[in-house]
Amino acid sequence: MRMFQVCVCGKPLQLNQAPTPQPKGTEVLLKVLAAGVCHSDLHLNDGYFDLGGGKRMSLEDRGMKLPVTLGHENVGEVVAAGPDAKNVKIGARMLADPWIGCGNCAACQRNEDNLCMAMRSLGVFSNGGYADYMMVPHPRYLFDIGDLSAERAAPLACSGVTTFGALKKITTLRREPTVIIGAGGLGLMCLALHQKMGGLSAIVVDIDPAKREAAKLAGAAAVVDGKAADALDQIKTLTNGGAYGVVDLVGSSQSARLGYDSLVKGGKYVIVGLYGGDLTVSLPPIPMRAVTIQGSYVGSVPEMGELMDLVRRKGLPDVPVSTRPLDDVNAVLADLRAGKIVGRVVLTPA
Ligand SMILES: [Zn+2]
Ligand SMILES: [Zn+2]
Repeated sequence: MRMFQVCVCGKPLQLNQAPTPQPKGTEVLLKVLAAGVCHSDLHLNDGYFDLGGGKRMSLEDRGMKLPVTLGHENVGEVVAAGPDAKNVKIGARMLADPWIGCGNCAACQRNEDNLCMAMRSLGVFSNGGYADYMMVPHPRYLFDIGDLSAERAAPLACSGVTTFGALKKITTLRREPTVIIGAGGLGLMCLALHQKMGGLSAIVVDIDPAKREAAKLAGAAAVVDGKAADALDQIKTLTNGGAYGVVDLVGSSQSARLGYDSLVKGGKYVIVGLYGGDLTVSLPPIPMRAVTIQGSYVGSVPEMGELMDLVRRKGLPDVPVSTRPLDDVNAVLADLRAGKIVGRVVLTPA
């Protein structure tokens, strides 16, 4: 099988070949049909996240071992299953939930694999879907997509469950406007899921006019230029004094400042984006205004199941998806880094 791997951090992915593995125990082997390209693949390729103030979080320190095949938004066809993999149909088209924990710790015991201290995430800490085949350790991480399009379903594995998990933290979703910062691939997914979840209205913030336009076309009630001097005032006007729910899909020093400052009393600022930076906040207003800063990291296995149920009932989120051949992966990553991609690119092996 062929696979595109990070061999040296900061260098293009390398095409390597290896014998196709055979599933053991509960493992399930998928033939990859579609693999979405996510912005965090850039960080994974670089090998670090920017923590602000010149500090970096190294992914090797967190357990990333090289070489590793990237690609964590995958749909594949089941081609083989180990003897202990129950209820798996050969030929079924499955979304692979990549957010896999150790299975033993307290987080995993409460079904929060995504908060495990020893994650084995596919395409991060173990081989992912930028390859002809990929191995999933247990059928519980597989979700049948039925007759949904593989290319359109693949982004649910990261972009979908990440925004779904963040939106679920906004309890006023159906009754009050929600502020969404960032209208890139993640932002448009968030907007689409917000609508499917019955969200009242979305105010979308982005510094790029093309992305604001895309958000407007996708049904944002209002768009705000995050760079505008009066961006905060605009948000306060649009929310009648401040937002109860803000989802920040950028996660930069600037977006965090704007998102946090937009909150009304009791409001919640949910940070998802991993752009990098830092935020200084005065402490007394946190209790006095009873605000919450909450992180949201991908989603749990049950959340992936809920998302798939939502999609079966309400259809796939209508986000722009384009396909490119797997062999173009390095060119796609370069385009993503240059900010040239609106929506999602999904790689399809030849
Ligand atoms: Zn991702
Ligand atoms: Zn665990």
